[in-house]
Amino acid sequence: MKNIVLLGAPGAGKGTQAALIANEYNIPHISTGDIFRKNIKEGTELGKLAKSYIDAGQLVPDSLVIDLVADRLRQDDAKNGYILDGFPRTIAQAEALDKVADISVVIDIELPFETIIERLGGRLVCMCGETSHVSLLGDSKTCPKCGAEMYVREDDKPETVRARLEIYERQTAPLVEYYGKKGNMVTVDATVGTIEKVFEQVKKVLE
Ligand code: ADP
Ligand code: ZN
Repeated sequence: MKNIVLLGAPGAGKGTQAALIANEYNIPHISTGDIFRKNIKEGTELGKLAKSYIDAGQLVPDSLVIDLVADRLRQDDAKNGYILDGFPRTIAQAEALDKVADISVVIDIELPFETIIERLGGRLVCMCGETSHVSLLGDSKTCPKCGAEMYVREDDKPETVRARLEIYERQTAPLVEYYGKKGNMVTVDATVGTIEKVFEQVKKVLE
């Protein structure tokens, strides 16, 4: 059983790698970003609370995130391992996680900010969960997986991307030191290029 945490700046490819890991090892992919977006779409109370923060590129307050994740980890499908994507994002979240979970390994996906800005600048997403880039799809914007029209996330607009990277530096980057000290963190260099090459490295860590 493996309880995995993926760290990395927004746009470093956490979501993509998390989906591949979930599929390969047959464990649930728990993405707090996806949970919030689903709640926003469904118009739930949580969605309403989270939306203003997310659209502005800010973090949703710890108080709204921590219980949500603790509940999710208690569900049956998480008994045999899981991959956490986008949580923890603050030291307070990491400390709360330590109280309710035993994390086997933390994978920190590293990518320079310049590359991240290029990527997020053209990122397209689909309701089905697929992610792509304008440079791959051209004008069609048709989802390669389900055929729906892909769109730019509200928080992928340039000003918001800058805010997200600043917040990452200030609030999330300290987790690299936090987990580094615990000794269960491995860094994966995402400048190697393709999704497949990064995944090869990730699999080596998990074997
Ligand atoms: P990315 O990693 O590309 O920034 P996510 O889908 O993980 O995107 O998250 C999108 C937004 O959802 C974040 O910018 C933040 O506002 C909110 N969010 C997601 N996870 C957390 C978390 N653990 N704590 C606080 N806010 C979060
Ligand atoms: Zn799709």
